[in-house]
Amino acid sequence: MPYETELNIAVQAVRDAAKGCRKVQAALVTAETLEKKDKSPVTVADFASQAVVCKALADAFADDRVVGEEGADDLRGEENTPLRNQVVEHTAEVVGESATETAVLEWIDRGGYDPTKDGPRKRYWTLDPIDGTKGFLRGQQYAIALALIEDGKVVLGVLGCPNLEFTDGSPGCLFTAVRGAGSKLLAIYGEGVEGKPVSIDEVLRASDARFCESVESGHSNQGDSARIAAILGITAEPYRIDSQCKYAAVSRGDASIYLRLPTSADYREKIWDHGAGSIVVEEAGGTVTDAAGSPLDFSLGRKLENNRGIIATNGRFHDEVVSAVQSVIG
Ligand code: AMP
Ligand code: MG
Repeated sequence: MPYETELNIAVQAVRDAAKGCRKVQAALVTAETLEKKDKSPVTVADFASQAVVCKALADAFADDRVVGEEGADDLRGEENTPLRNQVVEHTAEVVGESATETAVLEWIDRGGYDPTKDGPRKRYWTLDPIDGTKGFLRGQQYAIALALIEDGKVVLGVLGCPNLEFTDGSPGCLFTAVRGAGSKLLAIYGEGVEGKPVSIDEVLRASDARFCESVESGHSNQGDSARIAAILGITAEPYRIDSQCKYAAVSRGDASIYLRLPTSADYREKIWDHGAGSIVVEEAGGTVTDAAGSPLDFSLGRKLENNRGIIATNGRFHDEVVSAVQSVIG
């Protein structure tokens, strides 16, 4: 199988990061932090998750760079000492004593690759160490999303969803996808990379579809999605769920459509918000485009500069959804 080594390393890295996130959630998310809308627990988990994944990639593929969401500059300096100490502590809990302060900052900084500034590379990874930070804070859904990009195309994705229900009812799904080899579902707290094939649902008509969208109305225009649903004859309530768990939902048929509709003209989607999720849907048999029906172009740096919004579907009525979206926002 192509990318076998990459897949093994990426799955282990995301599993390790998920364990770390779960520990942070248990230790730091309290009734008080929720009450105060204190974001510090997710900040700690975010940096520790990026450190864990970047370390694993550095150990296995020393030449590969990573387009990650976080940078270690936010941890440097006297004023950030308490946060930095927590990040080092929680990283060490997962990777052991090699997680010195210097090493942790270095691992996090490996995620600072910018293809447009640092020069193009044939291959690099993209990482969202915690996608859906608000879901994490609410104790709901979030994801750890790692993808490999080669020649500007996503060729491998590993999407860890620590709170998404597995087939046996236990928490924690891990989706993998390799270009041309399908998508698989594994238990996130399990072992191995075998998994069960994942495929999109069999809903044939858009009117019978259920669609998912962001919980946060600031990330996707929910008024527009309601208008689009009405045009398509959709009567099911929207399935609101944080993070790339939306892609996971479409890939395994929990929903037939994922709509991400621009809330402003100048926002550009980040590649780490879509790399892993998009390949998981495509390899499960679905279709992913932007709101205009164009393919996502991952070759333009840290953002999807040429795309606006996202439409992912089971592929059976994608054009109809694109038309409805265009009639509302086009
Ligand atoms: P979601 O879980 O669907 O709410 O998406 C979370 C992601 O939304 C974060 O990782 C951010 O990168 C991204 N985001 C932040 N602001 C916006 C925006 N204005 N439009 C779309 N996505 C955004
Ligand atoms: Mg994100």
